[in-house]
Amino acid sequence: MVVCIKDKIKNINAVIGCNIGCRYCYAKVVANRFGLTKNFSKPIADIHKLERLRKPGVYFLTGMSDFYIWEKQWLDKSFELLRESPKTVGIYLTKAPNKIKLDDVPNNAWMGVTITCKNDLWRLKSLKENIKCKNYHVTFEPLFEDLGDIDLSNIRWIVIGTETGNCKGKIDAQKEWVDHLVEVARRYDCKIFFKEELVHKVMGEENSIQELTDEMEDALR
Ligand code: SF4
Repeated sequence: MVVCIKDKIKNINAVIGCNIGCRYCYAKVVANRFGLTKNFSKPIADIHKLERLRKPGVYFLTGMSDFYIWEKQWLDKSFELLRESPKTVGIYLTKAPNKIKLDDVPNNAWMGVTITCKNDLWRLKSLKENIKCKNYHVTFEPLFEDLGDIDLSNIRWIVIGTETGNCKGKIDAQKEWVDHLVEVARRYDCKIFFKEELVHKVMGEENSIQELTDEMEDALR
């Protein structure tokens, strides 16, 4: 059975807004449609939502933003709550690891980057240089090309997805690109999770891989 990632990993959209400007940004579409912000490029926060981190579970904290743009007090508060709730897993993503320096990250904060194409691969090195933490992950979504034999050392979990929606210039992931990425990830002992659209539109249920790490499984028990 194919799992929807949202059944396992809950979004806490305490921060809404981002100025990276990705062509395929779904968060901006949602924010504009529901009037969640006046100006998406200037993030706003409802810090009380972070209190949900107290309940054990796996939470994605950057579904409507990018943590590089968070005010320090927002990030500090989320880290404080994670330290108080060691069974919880908090997942953070950025596309600008070069603009962040962090060296006091709780062990249950999983810090990661998004990579969509070869031009993004610098983020892998930058993530590990600028953000010192126990658990790194990478999201390859939307996957736009075969990334080749990339270095996934110290990366513990990867998510792979294809572009959704119908925006102009849409690129569908190809099965051979995903197969190659899976082969590389296996060499590095990474856990792998295919988003449901990737399974249904590209890989097929018979090839589905939807793994979580032991810490994530523990948090969901
Ligand atoms: S980094 Fe994420 S939130 Fe920011 S514009 Fe790109 S897709 Fe949207």
